Amino acid sequence: MKSDIRVCSAWRDRHDRPRYSLSETCPDCGAPTENSAPAPFNPEDPYGEYRRALKRRTR
Ligand SMILES: [Zn+2]
Repeated sequence: MKSDIRVCSAWRDRHDRPRYSLSETCPDCGAPTENSAPAPFNPEDPYGEYRRALKRRTR
């Protein structure tokens, strides 16, 4: 699925967690954003575990 959501390219240095935005620059720190697809590492992704479990089951 295509995603238009972008993520701050410098969030690891400047924010506690991924800073998502629809604009080309981070509204918080002004760093350029990058396309978030494929999904970036997200320690708080509540569905990550579920998705990985599903993936295992499809084989
Ligand atoms: Zn930022």
